[in-house]
Amino acid sequence: MKKSVETSLIHSDYVPPGGFDAFPPGTHRASTVLFENVAAMRSGQWKDKTGYTYGLHGTPTTFTLEARLAAIEGGAHCLLAPSGLAAIAMINFAFLKSGDDVLLPENVYNPNRELGRWLAQDYGVSARFYDPMIGAGIAGLIRPETRLVWAEAPGSVSMEVPDLPAICRAAKEKGVPVALDNTWSAGLALRGFDVGADIVMHALTKYQSGGADLLMGAVITRAAALNEQLAQAHMRLGLGVGADDAYLVMRGLPTMKLRFDAHDAGARTLAAWFKSRPEITKVLHPAFEDCPGHAHWQRDFSGAGGLFSVLFDPRYTEAQTDRFVDALSLFGLGYSWGGPNSLVMPYRIRAIRSGWQDAGMLVRFNVGLEDPQDLIADIEQALEQLLA
Ligand SMILES: *Cc1c(COP(=O)(O)O)cnc(C)c1O
Repeated sequence: MKKSVETSLIHSDYVPPGGFDAFPPGTHRASTVLFENVAAMRSGQWKDKTGYTYGLHGTPTTFTLEARLAAIEGGAHCLLAPSGLAAIAMINFAFLKSGDDVLLPENVYNPNRELGRWLAQDYGVSARFYDPMIGAGIAGLIRPETRLVWAEAPGSVSMEVPDLPAICRAAKEKGVPVALDNTWSAGLALRGFDVGADIVMHALTKYQSGGADLLMGAVITRAAALNEQLAQAHMRLGLGVGADDAYLVMRGLPTMKLRFDAHDAGARTLAAWFKSRPEITKVLHPAFEDCPGHAHWQRDFSGAGGLFSVLFDPRYTEAQTDRFVDALSLFGLGYSWGGPNSLVMPYRIRAIRSGWQDAGMLVRFNVGLEDPQDLIADIEQALEQLLA
């Protein structure tokens, strides 16, 4: 067929030779997915991932990433979302409708708490918050209309490690699925299904990406029925991810365990150093005895990653600890973790959590991949600003 220039710019005849292979999986970018013929279009099936119908419903790139993420957790199914928070929303919208009840830990990732409050305010869902150390006692909170229990281990600011097996057992006895936000462990320090979770959620934004350069979330399940319910919500909410971001997460996975262990070693070095400092009343790191739920961490976890918090002595004012934070030069002031750069964030824990009214300022550290001794030297000079 003779083609004019406009057409030939779009319809090229060139086909590259076959037989190409390389380690990185291909990056397939698509909104439209082409069907071979009408019959193939009519029988197209994306729900069981045996075929492709539209970019939103998956490409070889996203299917490959999903399979690799499910394998880390020992799960069978995985769905991607454009952020960790979008993955949380997918779970809530998949399992909660008007009249239902959801239980969340008091120390839950704050935007999840906000979403719970929104569902309660505008969607007729009851959202109740439980003491993260409640353990088997959660059985007493579960009502006939409870449809979902959230757990997070540890809480990512105050660091309490819950008794996950006890919470999951109690929920299972009442037939209520448990969704575990396993971002902190990345599926490396703890596998969510091993402690009885039914749905495991990750912010891939953190360790899986490792670059602090993208946002993505994942929801992993073993039971096909749970995955189906999630896939419906995923499709209805239109939670697609970009091919290049999916590729970048895949690029991070081979080094994730090495990075996680390096973050872990660095954080333990810094946490141990803080323990000897007179300015600090408590080191909230699950591997240290000060941390509520330390025994649960010891029993259930095999590592800890780069995140921990310290409580300053209440004799230091907020202005003083703010000066300390601002004086740090190797720690960026910002949210998140899992990237190469160390981060710091101050929290008025007294104001945001009940039961902490005697606590001083809480400062959370994410230990990056710098030399821990350089980080300690930076903290040491910044501590001098407390009394400046
Ligand atoms: C970062 C994070 C999220 C949300 O991930 P985003 O990709 O930033 O939306 C959820 N839960 C925990 C525990 C997190 O740390």
